[in-house]
Amino acid sequence: MTNSSLIIADLHLSPERPDITSCFCQFLVDSKNKHDSLYILGDLFEAWIGDDDISPFTNTIANVIAEFAESTPVYFIHGNRDFLLGKRFAKKAKMTLLPQQHRITGYGYNILFMHGDQLCTDDIPYQKFRRKSRTWWWKFLIQCLPLKQRRLKAENYRKISVAQQKHKSSDIMDVNPTTVDAVMASENVDLLIHGHTHRPEIHSLPNNKIRAVVGDWYTQGSVLTLSHQQLALSCISFNAKNGI
Ligand code: MN
Repeated sequence: MTNSSLIIADLHLSPERPDITSCFCQFLVDSKNKHDSLYILGDLFEAWIGDDDISPFTNTIANVIAEFAESTPVYFIHGNRDFLLGKRFAKKAKMTLLPQQHRITGYGYNILFMHGDQLCTDDIPYQKFRRKSRTWWWKFLIQCLPLKQRRLKAENYRKISVAQQKHKSSDIMDVNPTTVDAVMASENVDLLIHGHTHRPEIHSLPNNKIRAVVGDWYTQGSVLTLSHQQLALSCISFNAKNGI
């Protein structure tokens, strides 16, 4: 045990991207038994329409995470693409579901973990959708629809969101600094760790505060290592010795 935790986010796993899946599997094998915990800060999957959407792909992912979790606790916070991931899948993957904001004290910090989409408050239409889609009744109604219909809805939503993103400036897609300050102050933390923006960086903020952004896994793996000694981002190349 090295007294460190690993943090990842935005893998966007899908059957269409076996390169990301193999990189993730290899990462789990390589990291097994070496750390205190693994935090997955959302958008593990490119899309998630319900725990009843079982496939060889979702089974593989559940199994590799469960195997890793035998020796190292795995914590999961929902992202904007997999917020319908439920207790059933979490149990199968042996992951602990955390609330959308999770605060811990450790490694010399007061830390807040989140996916990060809630920090992008300049994107008003998205925040409106987010508020609605996170209510129990919306989730309940969606999950009453047959799988086929949910799949269609998810595809449509993705098309609309890709089209809308073309018209949004890159500032709007990033976090709002005032929101970051407010969240960190209200939670009384000096380290905020999130993903979502796909802009990996460790930002030093006033008053010795830090905002660490974990990167996405589109072209390489991205991992944040947190220990008493370090807070470091690293990349894993897709062409490493991976292969499941
Ligand atoms: Mn996201």
